[in-house]
Amino acid sequence: MQIKRITAYPVRYPETNDYNNLRHLTLVKIESDDGLTGWGECVAMWPEVARAVKTLIEDGLAPQIIGRDPRDNEALHAALKDYMWWYGDTGMAMFALSAIDMALWDLKGKALGVPLVQLLGGKVHDRLRVCASTHPSKASLDDLAQELAAHAANGYTAVKVGFGKTGEANLGVDPERDIAYVKTVREALGPDVEFIVDLGKKTRWDSNLAIRMMREFERYNVRWIEDPLPHGPASIEGYRRLRATTHTPIAMGEREWTVAGYKRLIEQNIGDIFMVDPGRVEGVTGVRRVIDLLEASNLIFNAHTWSSAINTAASIHLTASTPNYLVLEMKPVRSPMQHELIRQPFEQSGGYLSVPDAPGLGIEVDEAVVQKYLFA
Ligand SMILES: [Mg+2]
Repeated sequence: MQIKRITAYPVRYPETNDYNNLRHLTLVKIESDDGLTGWGECVAMWPEVARAVKTLIEDGLAPQIIGRDPRDNEALHAALKDYMWWYGDTGMAMFALSAIDMALWDLKGKALGVPLVQLLGGKVHDRLRVCASTHPSKASLDDLAQELAAHAANGYTAVKVGFGKTGEANLGVDPERDIAYVKTVREALGPDVEFIVDLGKKTRWDSNLAIRMMREFERYNVRWIEDPLPHGPASIEGYRRLRATTHTPIAMGEREWTVAGYKRLIEQNIGDIFMVDPGRVEGVTGVRRVIDLLEASNLIFNAHTWSSAINTAASIHLTASTPNYLVLEMKPVRSPMQHELIRQPFEQSGGYLSVPDAPGLGIEVDEAVVQKYLFA
């Protein structure tokens, strides 16, 4: 069995879960000489990145592995990293590697006739608890709280909200209003639905404010708080203060790119839950290796997946392969790259999602939809 062709598809789509903002991804299809196809994705986000990644994949990486056996996928991952050392080990290089790696795992699963989770060692869970991962869109606190309560009424037992996003919600800029917001949400959700707060890029807390906010939020039982301080070495001391004075679990890591980067972050001992995206962290291979590190340290893995159904599928298999998870994040509103891209979209039921049993990622990509959203 040999890799015959690798094609990258930059796509642009309106994200209904993010005020219809246009988002960009690079999808990749790998075809074998015996007629199988594997699909992968990277979360390129910006159009110039999606186009650049296509060039890296088709002109740089594809020639390195065409003719090789896709079942040797981890050896190919190593060969690609060896070839691309001069690309660097962040950003576009990791996007290109991640998309190819994910497609190789899909192809290998199809070649062997087993689901990805089995290639990763097997199912720890038959079904996964899911969380409605949202960007809030309303202006008033009551409307914002009702928006989350509606997701809970649809079956979700956990909801997550991004502060500091675009739109009218304006969360993460006024501490008093944020505290009132969390109180209003807790009242609307009742005591049993888990509520997660994620600080986005418009929110700037220093460690004193973060301590105060986390203590306030603890009165309303926030399940975890994500990125309360900026990523990077300058925040390490602040995180140590936070952990010494508060007890809400802290999630972090979505700005890391490599297994080595997560290893360094884990060794700093400043987080409880680590966000890892198969569409940017060395693909499925990289994420599973980060999960190994997390399991060895008794820490929690959280798939950072807010992209296409291809990324969701990879995240489902990875999450199902580890005991160390709390929830899998899903976009609660119907979206083109979730509900059009594959023939049987992922739908939660009663707050759970079952793990696919079909070979590879277990999804069927509709290529007409890929063509429909293609932009370059
Ligand atoms: Mg986040």
